[in-house]
Amino acid sequence: MQKENCIFCKIANHEIPSHKVFENEEVLAFLDLSQVTKGHTLVIPKQHADNIYDLSSESAQAVFATVPEISRAIQQETGAAGMNLLSNTGKVAGQSVSHFHLHLIPRHDKHDGFG
Ligand code: 5GP
Ligand code: ZN
Repeated sequence: MQKENCIFCKIANHEIPSHKVFENEEVLAFLDLSQVTKGHTLVIPKQHADNIYDLSSESAQAVFATVPEISRAIQQETGAAGMNLLSNTGKVAGQSVSHFHLHLIPRHDKHDGFG
């Protein structure tokens, strides 16, 4: 289900363009608009969920099942030395888009701009 005026629903539906990293029936991964580090990617369920509290176990399984493959692809593409996976839940935690997303943040070195 789509939520009206949700930017990530629109990206999942290809109504708004994104730089696609991975896609299957349930999941889309695309580059973050403002790359914290080179290769910063967001993984989303195509079915809308506001955040982790709202995420169905089916969507959670669909998303997390793709993460190792996407991580390996990013690692190979960017040559990253490591990676941070994180999801912000709630404004207080820094969530700015209310459609669940997992950040995959490749780490290049200690001074690569994150953490
Ligand atoms: P949050 O702050 O909710 O954890 O993460 C939202 C992320 O979505 C931010 O890192 C922001 O740069 C990214 N973002 C917001 N709007 C767009 C967009 O239209 N396209 C893409 N590719 N990323 C977006
Ligand atoms: Zn949405």
